[in-house]
Amino acid sequence: MAEADIHAESADARFRVTVEAGAICLILSNTRAAKSRETGGILIGHIDSDGRAVIREATGKPRSSIFGWYTFVRKTSGLAALLKKQWRENQYYLGEWHSHPSAPPTPSGQDRSTMRAIAGDNGYCCPEPILLIVGGRDDSREISITVFLRNGQAVQLR
Ligand SMILES: [Zn+2]
Repeated sequence: MAEADIHAESADARFRVTVEAGAICLILSNTRAAKSRETGGILIGHIDSDGRAVIREATGKPRSSIFGWYTFVRKTSGLAALLKKQWRENQYYLGEWHSHPSAPPTPSGQDRSTMRAIAGDNGYCCPEPILLIVGGRDDSREISITVFLRNGQAVQLR
């Protein structure tokens, strides 16, 4: 099935996000492959001249990873090298994605505290990280996109 770009924005249009089809494809195929297990990775992209966040690429990460992203990058030369290359191409860390197998794509309490920690951690250079969650099953996927602000607020995009 060919995926299309996803466009989402906050009610006040202050936050606008495009997830390109290639990133959606990776996210859905990793989610499918993980079956009933939760899986996830990071979102890479840029902010365009209109202030819209454009997610160009999503990565998977080893299932054994129990570290936060920052620790993960320092320990995993593959992803660190990828990000270094992306940085040169003006592509940056924009946030995280993960799956909620057979559950709604609603951020959990743990998700919220993880994203707040990322927003407040200068190591990520990402004060307003995006969280994309894939919920539901293969035949009825639901995707939520939430932006987390440094003040602790979470803004749901539609
Ligand atoms: Zn979650």
